[in-house]
Amino acid sequence: MVRRDPVGFLREEYEQLVDKELDWKLRVLEGPSTPRCVVDGKKVLMLCSNNYLSLSNHSALKKAAIDAVRTHGAGSGSVRPIAGNMDLHMELERRLARFKGAEGSLVYQTGFAANAGLIPQLADAGDIIVSDELNHGSIIDGVRLSKADRAVYRHCDVEDLRVVLKKVEEHVPAYRRILIITDGVFSMDGDIAPVDKIAPVAHDHGAMVYVDDAHGEGVLGDGGRGIVSHFRLKRDDVHVEMGTFSKAFGVVGGHVSGTRDLVNFGYNKSRTWLLSGSHPPAVVAACIAAIDVLETEPKHVRNLWSNTDYFRKGIRDLGLDTGKSQTPIIPVMVGDSGAAKSFSSRLFELGVFALPIVFPMVSKDKARIRTIMNAALTKKDLDEALGAFEKVGKELKLI
Ligand code: PMP
Repeated sequence: MVRRDPVGFLREEYEQLVDKELDWKLRVLEGPSTPRCVVDGKKVLMLCSNNYLSLSNHSALKKAAIDAVRTHGAGSGSVRPIAGNMDLHMELERRLARFKGAEGSLVYQTGFAANAGLIPQLADAGDIIVSDELNHGSIIDGVRLSKADRAVYRHCDVEDLRVVLKKVEEHVPAYRRILIITDGVFSMDGDIAPVDKIAPVAHDHGAMVYVDDAHGEGVLGDGGRGIVSHFRLKRDDVHVEMGTFSKAFGVVGGHVSGTRDLVNFGYNKSRTWLLSGSHPPAVVAACIAAIDVLETEPKHVRNLWSNTDYFRKGIRDLGLDTGKSQTPIIPVMVGDSGAAKSFSSRLFELGVFALPIVFPMVSKDKARIRTIMNAALTKKDLDEALGAFEKVGKELKLI
């Protein structure tokens, strides 16, 4: 019999990552996620949070959360289909559907749970999923849980999508369903999927369109209503509009919006929704309050875009490359992974917190510092950040 160390691989695999400097070194945020915050004991400007509108610290959200603990308790007690479906959960789904202009919305525990729980139910054996090559990992995992065939088209390339769909149509026996999935805003480059062009192509092939708008909602469209609003699409151009409450909404939770049929289907088929405990009341109430704020205080989305335009122009004026960024996700292209890591550490020393994105998250020559804009940053904050980028850019001879 082979004598094995049953858990020896834990350390070995971890050490391999450490050797290649691919391990995550966790930073500790000491206090709330605000534009000026304390990380590992150091005062820094936060340029890498997804809290786009700074709603995680909005007084209305905090008050709603505290009030809900008083009225509904700390937990929900169950999964939603059994005994954990509170009036608050139903209210959140009604409010979200109204905000999105959809017939219905369904709230999951996280965005990851939405993708992992719904995608494998929408496409099964005999179906095919057609994905953008740069889709988010939670979509990829959702696809892996499905028994459907898979095909990939080049990033944001509608002509390639047409070519892939033509081949899909030639398959014998004919596929039962075709599901096209794309991120709305891509989190590494900050570019926007051409959903306005994808939708008519999908229509020609009778394909479903599923858009993960995690980085688009609260950011794009009328009052932050997301990508469907941004492109002025008809509701049924996008059959599943997926999103998260963990980014611009400032809380946590995933969701999908679409027809009543989609919601009823999800309620009965989505395993992550059926088998995992529902959100605690404080989370749900804070999400409802976030929708209220988006509907009544348009200044947050406006500030986010004015900061985005100012910072992107500032970085470009320094002679640095912001890649394909069209949104508040602004990568600063650096080149190789080592340079990106040095850039980020020097920024941190200068009081700017922005993470390097390196291989294997992006290709070897496309390492970058990914900055993410926030509505609550002031022009003074942004000038300070630009000053740090200029200093480090010169030190590393990038400018
Ligand atoms: N989709 C995309 C595009 C994301 O960036 C993320 C979060 N990193 C998710 C889904 C998952 O969302 P959540 O954090 O709510 O699980």
